[in-house]
Amino acid sequence: MADDILPYGRQWIDEDDIAAVVEALRGAYLTTGPTVARFEAALAEALGAAHVVAVCNGTAALHAACAVAGLGPGDEVLVPALTFLATANCARYVGAEPVFVDVDPRSGLIDVEHAASLVGPKTRAIIPVHLNGRPVDLPAIRALADRHDLVVIEDAAHALGAQTADSTIGDCRYSDMAIFSFHPVKHVTTGEGGAITTAKPKLAAALEVFRSHGMVRDPALLRHASPGPWYYEQHTLGYNYRITDLQCALGLSQLTKLDRFVARRRELAARYDQLLTTVSGVEPVAVGTAGTRSAYHLYAVHVDFAAIGQPRAQVVAALRELGILTQVHYIPVPTQPYYTDRGADPLGYPGATAYYEGILSLPLFPAMRDEDVDRVVAALTQVLG
Ligand SMILES: *Cc1c(COP(=O)(O)O)cnc(C)c1O
Repeated sequence: MADDILPYGRQWIDEDDIAAVVEALRGAYLTTGPTVARFEAALAEALGAAHVVAVCNGTAALHAACAVAGLGPGDEVLVPALTFLATANCARYVGAEPVFVDVDPRSGLIDVEHAASLVGPKTRAIIPVHLNGRPVDLPAIRALADRHDLVVIEDAAHALGAQTADSTIGDCRYSDMAIFSFHPVKHVTTGEGGAITTAKPKLAAALEVFRSHGMVRDPALLRHASPGPWYYEQHTLGYNYRITDLQCALGLSQLTKLDRFVARRRELAARYDQLLTTVSGVEPVAVGTAGTRSAYHLYAVHVDFAAIGQPRAQVVAALRELGILTQVHYIPVPTQPYYTDRGADPLGYPGATAYYEGILSLPLFPAMRDEDVDRVVAALTQVLG
């Protein structure tokens, strides 16, 4: 990528990351080896999680979480209307139906009261999303879940390194499971990769089995006497959702930098916050739940395109001309043809619609310099007139 082009997000790979992958390539195991367990242990340590199961991507992590939660046909799963497709699709993978919940138009976070109003006899789970890296109101979600006996799966793909007042996202203090993604735009990368964290040993064991074809080798769990060391049994339907040792070697090396990466994202976000106070028609996304600390996966702003008199596509194109690449996170999922075909109401989510109409993600990644932030704000000021 040319030096003068700023993408909305990108990975930071150092020589020691490269050396770690090369070392793994020379090892005895390219997959299902000891580096996977080491990566899981390091992630557990970083997050204060009791159990971590690493998988091949964040979407597989969501699928695995829904499967081991026992969700299936006839079940409804509450998901925010404004999120990445995978948050809703994972319910469909297991035959359940996502039920869309509106979001706060300023923070984009799930509206817990609206969620409560949608609970019915088929509701079995809720998947809140820590959008942009800002934790949702987890105690409120937990209270709702306890009232109705719901499983809570946090989609924490944006929130590695985020905190609430009394927990670290991923420690599952308020949830049954949390899922992470290690896609290159996320906080740390393994190329493709994901993980599920949980405090519940039974879920962790089920996740490990689900990750690899539903195969069981633990002698204590076998239904039949084992005739020899080659023996395994399949008790449930699983997949090949394994992550490789090469990926986990990169992940281990990247994890040593997590605190630095998150701290730098917060510094850059604070600089944006300060500089943007002078740009009219542009407002950083609302901070969200009191007492929480965002991990700033994204730096999103609300732009009043109507007041500025320019459509978003024109602003995006003008910024691109100046070497600044922006993105829109996200198109409300109930407007997707796949979901309207299934009966979703594309107009039924005024909070998500309002959030989507004005949102723009500006470049934010830890390798950015202070001057890059200044340049983005100057370009925005110029383009918006
Ligand atoms: C990135 C992301 C995912 C999926 O992760 P992949 O690793 O790309 O499969 C799920 N949910 C959200 C909110 C994400 O941003």
